[in-house]
Amino acid sequence: MIAITILKNLRAPPLMNLVFANRKLSFYDTSSTPKTKEDNAKLHREQEQRNAEDVLFDMFASEETGLISMGKFLAGLKTTGIRRNDPRVRELMDNLKKVHKLNNYETGSSAETQHLNRETFKAVVAPNIVLIAKAFRQQFVIPDFTSFVKDIEDIYNRCKTNTLGKLADYIPQLARYNPDSWGLSICTIDGQRFSIGDVDVPFTLQSCSKPLTYAIALEKLGPKVVHSYVGQEPSGRNFNELVLDQNKKPHNPMINAGAILTCSLMNALVKPDMTSAEIFDYTMSWFKRLSGGEYIGFNNAVFLSEREAADRNYALGFYMRENKCFPKRTNLKEVMDFYFQCCSMETNCEAMSVIAASLANGGICPTTEEKVFRPEVIRDVLSIMHSCGTYDYSGQFAFKVGLPAKSGVSGGMMLVIPNVMGIFAWSPPLDHLGNTVRGLQFCEELVSMFNFHRYDNLKHLSNKKDPRKHRYETKGLSIVNLLFSAASGDVTALRRHRLSGMDITLADYDGRTALHLAASEGHLECVKFLLEQCHVPHNPKDRWGNLPVDEAENFGHCHVVEFLRSWAEKADQSSEECKPEAVTSKTQADEEICSTSDLETSPTTSPIPTPVESGSRAGSGRSSPVPSDAGSTASAGSSIDDKTKPGL
Ligand code: GLN
Repeated sequence: MIAITILKNLRAPPLMNLVFANRKLSFYDTSSTPKTKEDNAKLHREQEQRNAEDVLFDMFASEETGLISMGKFLAGLKTTGIRRNDPRVRELMDNLKKVHKLNNYETGSSAETQHLNRETFKAVVAPNIVLIAKAFRQQFVIPDFTSFVKDIEDIYNRCKTNTLGKLADYIPQLARYNPDSWGLSICTIDGQRFSIGDVDVPFTLQSCSKPLTYAIALEKLGPKVVHSYVGQEPSGRNFNELVLDQNKKPHNPMINAGAILTCSLMNALVKPDMTSAEIFDYTMSWFKRLSGGEYIGFNNAVFLSEREAADRNYALGFYMRENKCFPKRTNLKEVMDFYFQCCSMETNCEAMSVIAASLANGGICPTTEEKVFRPEVIRDVLSIMHSCGTYDYSGQFAFKVGLPAKSGVSGGMMLVIPNVMGIFAWSPPLDHLGNTVRGLQFCEELVSMFNFHRYDNLKHLSNKKDPRKHRYETKGLSIVNLLFSAASGDVTALRRHRLSGMDITLADYDGRTALHLAASEGHLECVKFLLEQCHVPHNPKDRWGNLPVDEAENFGHCHVVEFLRSWAEKADQSSEECKPEAVTSKTQADEEICSTSDLETSPTTSPIPTPVESGSRAGSGRSSPVPSDAGSTASAGSSIDDKTKPGL
């Protein structure tokens, strides 16, 4: 009979501290005290937050002074794509100012460059810690934002040298633009921002307003009503051609006739009781909300010129009125003015990139987190942009770029990468179809570098980059899955891990291997599989020096203890070393069901100073070391004893 000793070194239950790299990944509480799911989740959040604040301090604090330089910290935050003026870090910035004032600094340092001690730092960042921790854990949609931005800069610079195209000249304000103007702004669905070039120069929305007014009409009236007045087909004709479809409706809301029709829906159906001035304000407030409060203005000179030079647009209006396209109570003069006003709203690349990102994010503005439109509305808007957004180039654009976009005659190009980011490119010279030359080149180069085309295969296309992929992601998740499978007794899953070529000897932050977890949970089948089939070492020590057999004892699993003891005896007798290569060798049958994609890594580097990479086994005295090239973040970096920098 095996003596079961519930030892004094009983500690956190298995997987409680499962961490890889500087990230805490999983919380699997097997403790016997019954807790509700909510309790666990709350406890977990609190614990994570406490950890995150301390880890951030340790990442950036000077060892000499024991203080953190906020300048360095904010610069680190910027590399993740989060700017100081992001509304989501407003409290942090306000707190910095308050602390600076309280300290009455005479050192010449500003609020943003002051040095703080641990407690003050933690109090300052606490209100925004969830976002900040997410940023430094590289959990945004573009985890390695710095590398991504470098590639974008390269494309931007190549487009800059392109001097083709001509300025629009039907009104003097457009003809006066500087043809060298070239700005590009990006905002991801997590609010990561990057801008380069002439991103603050104001320009008018022009046709880029069309998808936005269409979205308001859809939101308020629903697609059935809207599309009883306007079609969904590309017209195959010029954007301002005097033509209707076979049902005597404008072809789609992205061409002038369709957009004028949308404006009539706003006037007659969405807000029939509003005056023209009120509808203008109302519409502008939608645009503003989509842009997270960034610059949306109005250019009166452009408005007056548009109205002066609008013979064709008036002709379209009258032609549609003749064909009874408009809803009852339509006042054509007011509708036309409203259309010109929408075209004459003024903005810049920065603001438009947030609008594009709100479209990419299902109608929720990434920087304010405000839900502006319903996701169904955005789906419809993007579908039309995809097929009709770039005038007579729409078919080719859908083919080559494969993304929803909308261009405008002032040189704007709004590009949406659904569920990833919004991009706005602005450069006034246009090609013969009315699209910005540099903007178009940018879009085409972007999708030849990254797998953003709607029909790029994310799994098998190897010649394009996927910036969405975390360099640790697949491996990290595999470690989590591996340990989880062992802890839950899932031999089939363990078999899959083995077949995938994964290193089954990998350990978590606390040095616990799959064998530790299977033993502590009493899963004899898993223990047998790990030892007999995977040939993992039977005697790895965790950070407390415990072997798998100790785990089995601690948690009272006699049958596992017995098995492990006799295995150890046999192993000692034959003194045969475990061979790491046996772990990953595959039979032909294995090959057939094995996917190696799990093991992909991308050679990117962290944009931020990484804290000591946790969980190293090197020098831990573990009897059977993990192969040093295991690639696991759990096995790279510092000594196992280094617990001074807990994982984020
Ligand atoms: N104001 C322009 C017009 O109605 C807008 C068209 C455009 O951007 N292509 O003609």
